[in-house]
Amino acid sequence: MSQDFLNHVGGEWVPSRSGRTFENRNPADTSDLIGRFPRSTAEDVEAAVQSARRGFEEWRPTPAPERGAILKRVGDILTERKEEIARAATREMGKVLLETRGDVQEGIDTAYYAATEGRRLFGHTVPSELRNKWAMTYRRPIGVCGIITPFNFPLAIPTWKIFPALACGNAVVFKPAEDVPHTGHLFVEVLLEAGVPGEVVQLVHGTGEEVGAPLVEHPHVPVVSFTGSTDTGRIIGETCGRMHKRLSLEMGGKNAQIVLPDADMELALDGVLWGAFGTTGQRCTATSRLLLHESIHDDFVQELVRRVRELRLGNGLESSTDVGPLINEAAREKVQGYMEVARGEGTVLCGGGPASGDGLEGGFFFQPTVVDGVRPGSRLATEEIFGPVLSVMTFGEFDEAIRINNEVRYGLSSAVYTSDVQVAFRAFQELDNGITYVNAPTIGAEAHLPFGGVKETGNGHREGGWEVYEFYSETKVCYLDYSGALQRAQIDNY
Ligand code: NAD
Repeated sequence: MSQDFLNHVGGEWVPSRSGRTFENRNPADTSDLIGRFPRSTAEDVEAAVQSARRGFEEWRPTPAPERGAILKRVGDILTERKEEIARAATREMGKVLLETRGDVQEGIDTAYYAATEGRRLFGHTVPSELRNKWAMTYRRPIGVCGIITPFNFPLAIPTWKIFPALACGNAVVFKPAEDVPHTGHLFVEVLLEAGVPGEVVQLVHGTGEEVGAPLVEHPHVPVVSFTGSTDTGRIIGETCGRMHKRLSLEMGGKNAQIVLPDADMELALDGVLWGAFGTTGQRCTATSRLLLHESIHDDFVQELVRRVRELRLGNGLESSTDVGPLINEAAREKVQGYMEVARGEGTVLCGGGPASGDGLEGGFFFQPTVVDGVRPGSRLATEEIFGPVLSVMTFGEFDEAIRINNEVRYGLSSAVYTSDVQVAFRAFQELDNGITYVNAPTIGAEAHLPFGGVKETGNGHREGGWEVYEFYSETKVCYLDYSGALQRAQIDNY
């Protein structure tokens, strides 16, 4: 059953002023029309920002513990509606239900963390260098935040941004990826049901060019938080740099799992299977490079390929499915394009093309693919493919594995499988990534820890944990001199 959906602007559900819509279809079966969504323009963005400015004035004086209490209710409602939202997310983006349930759970965890942060937005009280003078800091909200998110975690990523933004007292204009508008809609419904005032949260559907760009360029949006590809992030970064905006970027990855000869091989096999082919390889943290010590390469690859061939493709709503479809036709064409490269640069051991067969005709399915003999520095070893494609490389010494891991422009996550504690600590210190796992796959973030990457994966900010609260608030310094005399800092006390 399909439905016509609306934007949420000015405290009401409204169509785009353009009168246009776009269709949202199930990537596992494109005959399944989920709904029509507003194809918004800069005019809708303008109305949303003006409304959010009013919302900000209403929300900023609301005591932070009260804002936290509303976020606690958001967590409760997400818990009640977990299954419904997970099913909607699988239907529109394809990954298996087990994973979309995890996506919603991450939103729930993030809500409960943000709720407590309402009672913990600490400032500092520090001794003044002068007598009879008080010195302290506190955290102020900033204003309207533009929130732009990708398709692959349709619930969790918006919550990573919107909950801390709200906890800190800001208003938001949210533009979800055009492939996952339904989850975005359900999320905003939950926020409103929990008691977030209508003008504090705006939802504007549409494309990056027609909605995302005007939002980033709007002079009354001082904060922009973006997760998506490094190419889009660069465009947004240029605009924000020119306009002196506060910007958080979370972008692409080319993550490696490194396996040493002393590793638990079963564990390492489970890890790479889940890391490379979960979410059909469409995770920023997906394992897209497997670095095997040369002494274990042949046996490991043989067993890996056997297991990869057993993965069952299908609709993510069916419990028998291991791997769902890619998000859309453009994604499948992109992955297919890399197969030419793969055949030139290595040996395709399994997969290598679109998947066909019973129940797969109507979707964007692609066979899980393993490419062996990939050389460091080649395109397959360095470019983000964002699909179910794993490039296998070998190394001799651990130093070489570190070098291969580090010689890509991205730096999100890495995984090392070993039983040697010295190697584990060297990995923590020497791998150039925002996140390193030992004896666990490259994927899997916990809501109360910071998340993000180095180099061209990010711009130095983190999502999640305690660090993100710095991003959504401004530090104000307050001095109170009760000496009754003019005291000149650095002059009268020396
Ligand atoms: P994308 O860059 O195509 O789109 C992301 C969002 O940006 C969408 O909402 C899109 O409409 C919008 N957008 C596009 N052009 C824009 C413009 N000119 N101005 C403003 N907004 C614009 O990314 P995607 O395909 O949705 O997601 C996949 C990418 O996201 C991958 O590169 C993946 O690694 C990355 N990602 C990173 C993280 C992380 O935390 N590092 C997490 C998830 C995904």
